[in-house]
Amino acid sequence: MRYLPLAFDLRGRPCVIVGGGAIATRKARLLSKARARLIVVAPEVGEELKGLVRDSGGQVFQASYRAGCLDSAELVIAATSDAGVNAEVSRDAQARRLPVNVVDAPALCTFTFPSIVERGPVSIGISSGGAAPVLARGIRAQLEALLSPRLGTLAELAAGMRDAVKQALPESARRDFWEWVFSGPVAAEVEAGRTGEGQRLLEAALADPDMNAMNRGEVYLVGGGPGDPDLLTFRALRLMQRADVVLYDRLVSDQVLELVRRDAERIYVGKKKQFHSVPQDDINQRLVDLALEGKKVLRLKGGDPFIFGRGGEEIDRLADAGIPFQVVPGITAAAGCASYAGIPLTHRDFAQSVRFITGHLQQGELHLPWQELASPGQTLVFYMGLTGLDTICRQLVRHGLAESTPAALVEKGTTREQRVVVGDLASLPRLATEESIEAPALTIVGGVVSLHRKLRWFDP
Ligand code: SAH
Repeated sequence: MRYLPLAFDLRGRPCVIVGGGAIATRKARLLSKARARLIVVAPEVGEELKGLVRDSGGQVFQASYRAGCLDSAELVIAATSDAGVNAEVSRDAQARRLPVNVVDAPALCTFTFPSIVERGPVSIGISSGGAAPVLARGIRAQLEALLSPRLGTLAELAAGMRDAVKQALPESARRDFWEWVFSGPVAAEVEAGRTGEGQRLLEAALADPDMNAMNRGEVYLVGGGPGDPDLLTFRALRLMQRADVVLYDRLVSDQVLELVRRDAERIYVGKKKQFHSVPQDDINQRLVDLALEGKKVLRLKGGDPFIFGRGGEEIDRLADAGIPFQVVPGITAAAGCASYAGIPLTHRDFAQSVRFITGHLQQGELHLPWQELASPGQTLVFYMGLTGLDTICRQLVRHGLAESTPAALVEKGTTREQRVVVGDLASLPRLATEESIEAPALTIVGGVVSLHRKLRWFDP
């Protein structure tokens, strides 16, 4: 370790910034977040900087720098465009044993600013010790993605409850309690934007001597997207990292599943066409039972849970049982496959609307409003339509669409095994057989399909 990260309490402390331009202003913004008292020395000082100084209860000296400017300082920053002045400030500060930072001149600094991730009172500094600032910035971006934007709210909630927790619990129990707060339903509620509910839960747990409230299970119904793990939402990833047990089905890709917390129990509840390996009703009940055992249950589904995902039925049962749950949307197959195949679902020249349709056969039949589907100016996307592909194409033609209407199949869209087959309503069933297209596959019908040749970009 080349530099020691320290958390500096600057509240009300006089910090001198030499310089009045854009860089000085940037540093002033940072210091004023830490509520320092700003003292700015420069012949010319910008308006924003003046405002920051005023708000901090500090002072602007519109003058050239001289050593006396550092008299009251506890921390010094040199941010002028004059290398000579910057060096002088560094020398004077060091002579007075004051911590000093000179922007973009590491050799003149006794401290540097790390890349910072900020969440309310929580701050994370990343320093590469000057070796690779761009690397530090990259790490920062990763942390930004990983940490809930509401982490600060959670920390503030905790701060507000510290005394109450101290009074209610003996020291030996506090640590477990806070761990529960930050990794359990309180955190989940706050991160889902329900701070009031999080607070209520925390208070209930404190008031409940047997800690029943702490053993509360919950369910996260999460859309895992069409396959490419890069298409997960931040929230999906966080909840995947938090779960005790995961119930997943066939559509969830291995790469997505790999991102679930390592020691979470994995339960496959996939359905295979024709034989339903786990009946929906059993899944619904299983979710309830696991949550009642106090587990954090992740119900991970392909695509979006509310689009042909029966997510509604699963949480209906949870709602009946009074089990808390949250739903995280995912990128549905239509959006994922269309993007990765270069087929815009709407386009001013071809389609003013798009329909998501189930092509799932029931007792070998498809009852769909064919007349409506065959009307022009729309894109049709059939989910689960591989077995019934022949019927779909024939019915659309019978009800008025031209045989030459462009149509495509996207197999295993967004994954490294993606294949796209493009033809028209007359040829697509034959092409599907020739190419041995397998599930999961999505059928897209409409003029927009003709754009694929030009707009495709993903070539796994
Ligand atoms: N909830 C899911 C859909 C479940 S229905 C979603 O929002 O995407 C299952 C159907 O989705 C499959 O039969 C197939 O038509 C489609 N599908 C899901 N993932 C797919 C993928 N990666 N590529 C192509 N089709 C996919």
